Amino acid sequence: MERSEQLLHNWHDVTQRIHNACLQAQRDLNDVNLLAVSKTKPVTDIIALAQTGQVHFGENYLQEALDKISALPELVWHFIGPIQSNKTRPVAEHFTWVHSVDRLKIAQRLSEQRPAHLAPLNILLAVNIDREESKSGFFPEQLAATVAEILPLPNIQLRGLMTIPQAREQLSEQRSVFAEIHQLLSDLQQQFPQAQLDQLSMGMSSDLEAAIFEGATWVRIGTDLFGARDYTAKNSLKLASKIQKAD
Ligand SMILES: *Cc1c(COP(=O)(O)O)cnc(C)c1O
Repeated sequence: MERSEQLLHNWHDVTQRIHNACLQAQRDLNDVNLLAVSKTKPVTDIIALAQTGQVHFGENYLQEALDKISALPELVWHFIGPIQSNKTRPVAEHFTWVHSVDRLKIAQRLSEQRPAHLAPLNILLAVNIDREESKSGFFPEQLAATVAEILPLPNIQLRGLMTIPQAREQLSEQRSVFAEIHQLLSDLQQQFPQAQLDQLSMGMSSDLEAAIFEGATWVRIGTDLFGARDYTAKNSLKLASKIQKAD
């Protein structure tokens, strides 16, 4: 099969899984968005996938993302990778969403650096739900105080939470961790009723169904759309070093 055909085929499979999960979960299809995670993949793949009408794309590595955005500015770009505090300006200038805000300082800098002529930058707070050393993100008990600090900031709009749990085999285990995140969002909604906290970014290729059952509004899918990523050979030098936690 040609590459572009393969990508269309993958996109149909993934959207079918999303439809089926929405049906089973009795959720409105319009409330679950597909974020195509295109990190390490070429612009030609993104163009092919955009033929389906897919407009939301997620990237983890800043320089790679900026190159793609300048090639395809008409798409909607989400930053989902770790952010170094000295790299916030291009993120504030070139993205519409940031899913991976993991420190108050990052939100403050994005607020200061978001150009005034653009709509507010939509941000989500990353939650380190499994309290993993290797991952960044807030612990649940830090969220309320952080939200209180972020809500008054101009030029950014806090929209909800994002998480990348540890891999779990069983659907029931996957669901219970996503349910915890949903509960954290519900608690924040109660505490901050004036805020527009309506988004949950959770679920990847291997657990999108569980995430949809538990209220995901964004599923972030890389592998099942674009195939496995190649971090070896020429890509490894550029990318492997950046997979570590930022800062
Ligand atoms: C790479 C990545 C994804 C996509 O993961 P797949 O398992 O390939 O679908 C989703 N979210 C984040 C934050 C990522 O870094």
